[in-house]
Amino acid sequence: MSTTSPFPVPQYLAKLSFDGLREWFSSQPTSVLLSLAQTVCANTYGNKVYLRGLIEFSNHCFCDCLYCGIRHSNHKVERYTLSEEEIIAIVQRGIARGLKTFVLQSGENRQDLPETMSRLLRRLRRFANEDIAFTLSCGVYPREVYREWKKAGANRYLLRFETSDEDLFSHLCPGKSLSRRLQAIEDLKIEGYAVGSGFMVGLPGETLDTRIQNVFLCRELQLEMVGIGPFLPHPDTPLASHHSLPIEETVRMTALLRLLLPWANIPATTAAGSLHPRGREMMLEAGANVLMPNLTPTEKKRHYLLYANKICLDEDGWECLSCLSLRVASIGKSLSFAKGESLLREEKR
Ligand code: SF4
Repeated sequence: MSTTSPFPVPQYLAKLSFDGLREWFSSQPTSVLLSLAQTVCANTYGNKVYLRGLIEFSNHCFCDCLYCGIRHSNHKVERYTLSEEEIIAIVQRGIARGLKTFVLQSGENRQDLPETMSRLLRRLRRFANEDIAFTLSCGVYPREVYREWKKAGANRYLLRFETSDEDLFSHLCPGKSLSRRLQAIEDLKIEGYAVGSGFMVGLPGETLDTRIQNVFLCRELQLEMVGIGPFLPHPDTPLASHHSLPIEETVRMTALLRLLLPWANIPATTAAGSLHPRGREMMLEAGANVLMPNLTPTEKKRHYLLYANKICLDEDGWECLSCLSLRVASIGKSLSFAKGESLLREEKR
């Protein structure tokens, strides 16, 4: 481990080329990857697992990503948008329970969102002080829109690139380009957001090389948060007949991310828990340090299915807090209600 870097990255890994890293990664047993990632995570975030309250406030989307259950062309989806009052009530209840970060997530390209989101953020900021962080995850918008949302009270933004393979991206997301998405990530950084991105593991058409390249791209972008999860086929999409990779592949990629981006906040995602009953615990054991209980009202959650077999649909998000507490305790970790900035941001201060 380095003694000079503020982040304890194994130096031989930090310097490896793409080919060198692929060779090293392929030759390591999962147990070794986990052991290395656990050491790095313990040295950076200790045994803390930060909580983020997720609110899926609208499933309207004008995009048609081939893998996504709420894509525009899926007419079986019952569309909804939570009212401002409903969102405010959830945030108020979350703050009373001690939560400090809320993630407001929706589909993309809604014409009315620039204005309505600004208004909502201003209303939220009337009672949420600077100890509370608002993360938006609403897709690609012009930089001026991001600027307005930041002024209105947003702090962080999640925008996954899903795959670093340009051709695969264009195939999977018709009418969109990887370069535009990466431009949006740069715009968000310039506007002062803590930016998160990430990718899917096992998309039809990707290879191990793609996945290693995905991790390199995350590092190149100096992301503060990285969300990954397994590809899970949704029955009402063009990719319904494809299969997921075993959970071990997502676990190995989580460990590699922790080793190459030791500063990043990495969620143990619901998608991993949907692929394997211990999926989230396995990601936490591989270096993830964030959990996102879903606070979306139970009657709406079932209409926000990006993939099939999503877990916790019938549970009230508030009950999830107790369940998650037991789950993290079972692997020697504990939940933290702290705001949980990434170490990269702390380091810059
Ligand atoms: S992945 Fe996102 S942008 Fe693509 S169709 Fe689904 S909600 Fe819309």
